[in-house]
Amino acid sequence: MSDLKCCPFCGARGQIISEAGDPFDDIGRFYFVRCLGCRAQSGAKYASNSNDCPNFYEEVRQEWNQRNEGAT
Ligand SMILES: [Zn+2]
Repeated sequence: MSDLKCCPFCGARGQIISEAGDPFDDIGRFYFVRCLGCRAQSGAKYASNSNDCPNFYEEVRQEWNQRNEGAT
């Protein structure tokens, strides 16, 4: 597991969020990292309920850390 880096914009901590994809029909969840300061977000990964796996946390963590490098 890699650690979350600080926000590239404001330097605050990031937090991994999992959010229901559809609150009326719970068929899956979005995973993404959101800055606790300026609320910048990483790209989101979608996981169906049958595919709810810790790997998604690692994927969004890596995506957030890549943003921190200013690659895109
Ligand atoms: Zn921020």
